[in-house]
Amino acid sequence: MKKELDLLYKEIASCTRCHLAQERINPVRDQSDPGKARVILVGEAPGANEIKHGFPFAGEAGKKLSTYLSLAGLTREEVYITNVVRCRPTANGGKRNRTPAKEIPLCGGWLDRELAIFRSHTVIPLTVVTLGNISLKWLCGKSCIIGNCHGRLVQLDEMKILPMYHPAAAIYRKELDALIRSEFEELGKYIEAAGQ
Ligand code: SF4
Repeated sequence: MKKELDLLYKEIASCTRCHLAQERINPVRDQSDPGKARVILVGEAPGANEIKHGFPFAGEAGKKLSTYLSLAGLTREEVYITNVVRCRPTANGGKRNRTPAKEIPLCGGWLDRELAIFRSHTVIPLTVVTLGNISLKWLCGKSCIIGNCHGRLVQLDEMKILPMYHPAAAIYRKELDALIRSEFEELGKYIEAAGQ
């Protein structure tokens, strides 16, 4: 599986499907062993910290995510993290991140191919946790909204998808923290029971 992912990431590193390619500095890729992944997590797009460090969820949201994962009995080494969009979408002269609305349809195909690689190699179908609206909508359809779908497992083709709030949401909306914690605890019980 690693070889196939290596080839895919080589293609992504030279992708020019959208204008974000001009600003690409450092490719972002999860550093855990994909063969050991018990869960796949899908975020939105890299931000400044991710570009700096070269792996997804490297900043404040990443710290939150690690805390939530521990509630599910998972470490970062036991999950595989990826994004819908691969290059950093910026606004305000690079000072802040923005929602990559125009880039999603151009970039999302990489995620589809990445998940197909996992599906072709995994005996027990892995749970794919979407973090926030962007990955939820890409995988489950535009009518899905995180506020309505969070915490409920969806069977989609050969994938089990669990929509969760993006960890950054709890930084801005502190009232979400308890809800996200309880849903990660449920995730832990679910994957344990499913033998993942
Ligand atoms: S954001 Fe995606 S589609 Fe755009 S250049 Fe980067 S890899 Fe290609």
